[in-house]
Amino acid sequence: MRIRSRCCVCEKPIADSFWVCADCGCNFRLAGSWAAWPDWARELRNAEQRRRRRRDNTPYPIPLGYLSVGGRAAIERIFYGDPGDSDASEG
Ligand SMILES: [Zn+2]
Repeated sequence: MRIRSRCCVCEKPIADSFWVCADCGCNFRLAGSWAAWPDWARELRNAEQRRRRRRDNTPYPIPLGYLSVGGRAAIERIFYGDPGDSDASEG
């Protein structure tokens, strides 16, 4: 198994199925479910979960045609400004 994940406390490489390494689990008493961990450790675990999700899910472009009319209009406003701001949108 290739190890790509890191301990959320000390960033030591660990297996994907763990959130903390054995040392941190022992030193900070992070045994058992992360849901029972102290707040600081849960925060670190949540950040590591977000990092792993970004790592495992490469963003890809979504064609404008896939969006609703409202979603398309919102994105076009972000990129091109409000209608009426430019000559191109008149008429
Ligand atoms: Zn660690």
